[in-house]
Amino acid sequence: MRKTEFDEGAEGRTGIHERNGNLVPAGQDVRLIERIGAHVAGIMQELNLDLDDPNFRHTPERVAKMYLEMFRGIFEGSEPTITTFPNEEGYHHMVIEREITFYSMCAHHFVPFYGHAHIGYIPRSRIVGLSKLPRIVEFYAKRPQLQERLTEQVAEFLWTKLKPLGVMVVIEARHLCVEMRGVKKPGALTTTSALRGCFSDRKVREEFLALVQREHPW
Ligand SMILES: [Zn+2]
Repeated sequence: MRKTEFDEGAEGRTGIHERNGNLVPAGQDVRLIERIGAHVAGIMQELNLDLDDPNFRHTPERVAKMYLEMFRGIFEGSEPTITTFPNEEGYHHMVIEREITFYSMCAHHFVPFYGHAHIGYIPRSRIVGLSKLPRIVEFYAKRPQLQERLTEQVAEFLWTKLKPLGVMVVIEARHLCVEMRGVKKPGALTTTSALRGCFSDRKVREEFLALVQREHPW
């Protein structure tokens, strides 16, 4: 049932996919939406909410659809397939894609955490299309997730698929489970990093961090 390809525009048979710019469920997911919606309605009943209130009437179904959209990475297969190109220029310096915006859901509380990912790698024999880097972040973000695991998964994916000389991923995110509830620390920023290969060299790491922290020139 799972999609194994990660082609642009390819549709999974399960989950919600895009058609003409709209997100629509695959055929069998109408029932999946109903089943998830019934559970959401159950929670609302336990909270003593009036499900006949016009504002609540379609909330269970809306929440179910939203979950399928936000967790679509679960349905897209085990991992993305990316196209790589031969490093014909023999470029062996740093390639950085920074401030990749992402939205994910905390696995512990099912509320969002969101922020930016910065990815740097030094190619060996292959390079990757830059537009693929945000797609890799997106794929791993669209599921119940931990920031630590997200950071590791993106780094590990590039390390194994691209076999670069090194890769480093830094993620900075705000967690609504920290800001809205519990310790209530609005604006707190959580930073995580993962690295492989030559980024364990302090000089390489420092070059990456300096470039990532530089202000935009425009
Ligand atoms: Zn949380």
